[in-house]
Amino acid sequence: MDNCLFCRIVRGEIPSRKAYEDDEVFAFHDINPQRPVHILVIPKRHITSLATVSEVDTPVLGRMLAVADQLAKENGSPDGFRVIINSGRIGQQEVGHLHAHIVGGPDPVGPMLKRV
Ligand code: AMP
Ligand code: ZN
Repeated sequence: MDNCLFCRIVRGEIPSRKAYEDDEVFAFHDINPQRPVHILVIPKRHITSLATVSEVDTPVLGRMLAVADQLAKENGSPDGFRVIINSGRIGQQEVGHLHAHIVGGPDPVGPMLKRV
């Protein structure tokens, strides 16, 4: 995916504040943090969204969640965190490369959703 923003971040073509990297996943601080801790965890290999995952993606999906607790603790959210994965139009996903938001900080992050 030549022009995908997050593929370009993985390749280092666009700078990011890296928080974690292994052979399958990459994590970096959100450019517009909504909480004191706001990290994005992404698969290195392009996956558009949860709507496009297949059986072969199962391990990397697990890895994305498995690194969340360590990332939260290392970055100032010692007592828990919230994971958000927006998908598609209804989920209001803005970047078309699957990503898990890890949000937290010293204080609770707030209600899960506001009723609209
Ligand atoms: P979503 O609405 O779930 O697609 O979230 C996209 C997220 O990507 C937003 O929280 C943006 O602030 C974040 N974002 C967009 N561009 C960058 C960037 N260059 N570096 C870090 N985070 C970014
Ligand atoms: Zn991509």
